[in-house]
Order: sequence, then C-alpha cells, then structure tokens
Amino acid sequence: MSRQTLYRARYLLPITSPLIEDGAVLLESGLIRAVGHYRDLANTHPEADLVDFDESILLPPMVNAHTHLELTAFSDWAAAAGEPDAPHSFVDWILWLVHIRRDVGEEQLKASLEAGLKASLLAGTGAVGDIFTTLNVFEAYLESPLYGQVFAEVLGHDLALIKERLSSIKALTVKSPAKSLNWGLSPHAPYTLSASATDQIFAFAKQLTLRCTIHLAESESESEFLRDGTGAIADKLFSSAKWDPLLSPPTGFSPVRSLCSEGRLKQGDLIVHGVHVDTADIEMLKQSGCSVALCPRSNAALSVGKAPVTEYLHAGIPLALGTDSLASSDSLSIWEEMAFAAEWFAGAAEPRDWLEIATLGGAKALGIEKRVGQLAPGLEASFQVVTLPVLPEVDVLEETLCTAGKDVNVTHLYLAGENVLL
Ligand SMILES: [Zn+2]
Repeated sequence: MSRQTLYRARYLLPITSPLIEDGAVLLESGLIRAVGHYRDLANTHPEADLVDFDESILLPPMVNAHTHLELTAFSDWAAAAGEPDAPHSFVDWILWLVHIRRDVGEEQLKASLEAGLKASLLAGTGAVGDIFTTLNVFEAYLESPLYGQVFAEVLGHDLALIKERLSSIKALTVKSPAKSLNWGLSPHAPYTLSASATDQIFAFAKQLTLRCTIHLAESESESEFLRDGTGAIADKLFSSAKWDPLLSPPTGFSPVRSLCSEGRLKQGDLIVHGVHVDTADIEMLKQSGCSVALCPRSNAALSVGKAPVTEYLHAGIPLALGTDSLASSDSLSIWEEMAFAAEWFAGAAEPRDWLEIATLGGAKALGIEKRVGQLAPGLEASFQVVTLPVLPEVDVLEETLCTAGKDVNVTHLYLAGENVLL
C-alpha cells in the first residue's frame, strides 16, 4: 500500500461540508482519501505520517477565474513611459493600456507572465483563467503547477487577420500549456470584434472544443455602443484603432442579448464582468449555462458600476472571482478580491458564499471542479494553509477569513500533492 499522510490544522474548511475544528485530510498517491476530525482519522489510520500545521487554517486553493498575468509588470511599464496614472474613464483607460503595451517587447512580457504565475502561487491561488495574447511566449507556462485555462485572446475586425490568428492558436493547442493547464479561447469583447468575427471565433472554439471566455457588459459605454453605435467607443476607440470603415451596424440590443441571441455561447463558457445586465439578460445567461467571473476591484477602479450579485445568486448563475490585470487592480490576490467584494456587495452574499465563490465557484467556472475546489475524498491533493494575526473563534472564522484580505498569510500551497511554495 502506498504511503498515507495526515495533514492536520486547527481549522479545516472543506467548503462543501461544515468547517471542522482540529481537522485533518488524509492524502494518498496525490489524492484526498478522507476528511474529518484529526482524532478520528488518526485512530482509523495509525500508520499514516503526520504533518501538523498547528494553529493554521487549511482550505482549498483560491481560484483566480479571470486575470491577465502577462500584464503583471504593467505599472513598471506605465512609469517608464512617464504615464503612471490610470485614467478613470473606461475608454480612456483602454487607450492608455494599448498605448503603454505597444512598446513592450516579448522578453518583457514573458518575464511579466512568469512573475504573475509566481505571485499567484504566493497568494494561495491554485488555478487561473488567464488571458494570453503573446503566443510566442507560451513556454512561460510549461513548468507551472497551476490548474486552469489559458485563454488565447482574439480581437479585431479584419476577418483575414482573425483567420490567421486562429490558425496560429490551433497550432499551439496540440500540446497543453502545462501539466494542469488547458487551452481555451478568449474573444476579447463584443466592441472589439465584428459580428462576423465573433461568429467565426465561437464556431472555431466549438470545433476544437475549447472553452471560451469573453469580457461582456462591463461598462455603460459598451452598452451604448452596441445598442446605438454611438459614444466614446465609436468616437475614440474606433478612430484610434482605425476600425471606422469596419464598424458593424448597432445591434439595438444589450451586450448580453447581442452576443447570446445568435446562440454563440455554449455550456461551460465564462462571462467576465457582467455589470450592465437586466432581468432578461440574466435569464439568457442562465439558459446558456455560463458562469460569471466578477472583478469588483477592477470595476471600482474604472468606475463602470456594480454587478447585480443578489440577482445572479437568485437566478442560480454560478459565480467566480477574478482579479483582472494589474493594469486595473492592485494585486493578484483573490483573498484581497474577496475582502473587497464582501464589503462592496455588502448584504448580497454570506461569508460562506464568498469563500465558496472564491474556491469551488472558480473551479466550476474553469471546468476543473472534479479535481480541485473543495476538500472531499477523490479530489486531487490540492489545498492551501493560511494563518491570521489572531486566530478567530470558530463561530466567526468564516467572516474573519472572508474579510481579512492582506492579513491572510499563505504559508503552504499544495497542488496535486506537491508543496509548490518550497
Ligand atoms: Zn480582463
């Protein structure tokens, strides 16, 4: 029989079952065999080795369902360009990002992506939904122990260029980006893609069975542009990108309806932001079988509004959390994103719900929930161990964890049985 090890901690948060004081997980051959009270498991498995995390909290890894790790060094690039301050208007911010990003070379992007992968692990993140644009630097992922999806981004209005881009992506997808990472596809957003380009990309994804993620219903500017063809996106973004001649006619509909009405989305695809939606949009998203990744710190920084979390939960739409990139957010920590969410969306969800959204919710959004996202027999041996400045009493543990943010100290992160912070 292969070796069994008990990992004990003062508190265990399995996510899908009640928290356990003086709890343990029993691991064998890289899998979770049992979860329970330490004393019970020690009695039934006396031969098991013991790793004791003392006054710590053991729970599944965080899942960052939406990020752009290649932009991790963005603030350095902005400072070097002499433009360190992000504009607060959505369209000005996009133009600022494009302008700074244009002068960044592939080696810099690769180093930035590597830094983002490392920073994610240090923050207790075990899985990512990462948007990836610079196909030549895909080797940066190769050694990463992270789970999740690398979504290759596609944008533009020229169908010939889109076709070329998709064939480059197809060539990459013959091999996974890393052991536990899979390829996905990211049509950027409905305002940076023509209707026919969007059709082409979603059809390609269906053909190759790639999950898709798309920025959708993020700002009022996006809603105005799709509905009426007017506003800052038409006036500033399109003229800057010289897309004016390729401008699609306005759809007359909301962003969600513009995208969903053609049946483009498939079960398992992931919507990012979902701020500007009404009841009919939420019903449409529900029918599509998609999850929604909330990025509240980014939404607050760009002043685009607040996603209707209560309505999403009421409709039963699976939610996840994402940090978005460091061009619109302060850190790659889902602990900090969750603390911000709990305060910003006060009353919309309980601390227990936020902890589930930050872990299992993200795993479901990325289609990896059978491997990671909860502590339960049969799942892979993936968990984080954290400490707090003062260990809370059991009855306020979830609330304290949910709002602790920067005060959470991640001491260990195990992914598929390996301590990846060594
Ligand atoms: Zn994004």
